[in-house]
Amino acid sequence: MIDEIIIKNGYVIDPEQDTIEIKEIAVRNGVLVAPQENRSQNVKYIDAEGCYVSPGFIDMHVHIFTGHTELGIDADLVGIEQGVTTVADAGSAGYSDYAAFKEKVVEPSQTEVLAFLNISRKGLTSGLSELANLEDLMSLEEAEEIFNKELSIVGLKARMSGSVVKNSGIKPLKHARIVADRLNVPIMVHIGNPPPNLQEIFPLLRKGDIVTHAFHGKKHGIMDASGELIPEALDALKRGVLFDIGHGTSSFSYETLLKFRERYNNPFTTSTDIYIKNYENPVCSLMHTMTKLLELGVPLIEVVKSVTLGAANALGTRDIGTLALGTTADITIFKKMEQRTILIDSEGAELEVNQILKPYMVLRNGKVVYNDESTEFKGARANR
Ligand SMILES: [Zn+2]
Repeated sequence: MIDEIIIKNGYVIDPEQDTIEIKEIAVRNGVLVAPQENRSQNVKYIDAEGCYVSPGFIDMHVHIFTGHTELGIDADLVGIEQGVTTVADAGSAGYSDYAAFKEKVVEPSQTEVLAFLNISRKGLTSGLSELANLEDLMSLEEAEEIFNKELSIVGLKARMSGSVVKNSGIKPLKHARIVADRLNVPIMVHIGNPPPNLQEIFPLLRKGDIVTHAFHGKKHGIMDASGELIPEALDALKRGVLFDIGHGTSSFSYETLLKFRERYNNPFTTSTDIYIKNYENPVCSLMHTMTKLLELGVPLIEVVKSVTLGAANALGTRDIGTLALGTTADITIFKKMEQRTILIDSEGAELEVNQILKPYMVLRNGKVVYNDESTEFKGARANR
């Protein structure tokens, strides 16, 4: 019987303290504890030399409703096997099918599964125009019932692009606003090709709401041709609306992110919008997306914060994304592997990278659930 796990020699990334330093992390009874002087006999040591040790990564935009949606991918394949301890499905399930989602995905997965419930009752179970018919909108009563009962549901999802809403225009988001205000939960809004346009969408968003696909490379995005945020987007940021990457097949542009960072230093969250068709290319994994950000010049501590503390705050969860003592011991140990490769964004732009982030070991609730000692690890000393 193991009483305690000690992770030693790794570069520990603490997103709350803003530090990266070599120190020990101790885990007992599934939670993080202070390393003690007098140790019991039954200690398991994990040598993380040359690796980084972080709160478990959170991917807050995935599609994992297998069997019921065409795009669903296995939760653990994009979760713990990729160094991600918590995922949030972004609107694959709606009110009508949440029970099936809970039974088939939330409960059996080793990865913690949270969900943004689609404001359409149908979710993505019958095509991708789920907001074309206003009669499919979840009622306020239905929303109250399911949010009170299902604690894995953290917010609402409203996909606000032309092919999704058809003639419904901005109405589904106005309805989502009413529901979200009543329940006091965030709305994750997907933006893409208008209509509706951002001038209509942004004023409906409040502090804590999330704009996913914020850095897409399509026309009518968050910035004008000169690289200035449109006034509605700037106002939203100032109010505390969060921008999220949501890479996806067609929703992340290196150029858009670089332009944004030239003028604005607001933090954003990093998520994949991973599903069956973009799993091989261009998304691959959360760590691939993080690798792209590093190559674009975002510092490691910021990148890690965007998938730990930042994501946890966006999801309204306090027990994950942190190394605070007494919180759940979800830990991602990862490394930078020397590997020259070309990573593309959704526009096909290429980035040549020499190092790529790879998961090494993953703990969930204090137990090792993934261990990649099998792959050759060059043991190169990690550097900042
Ligand atoms: Zn999505």
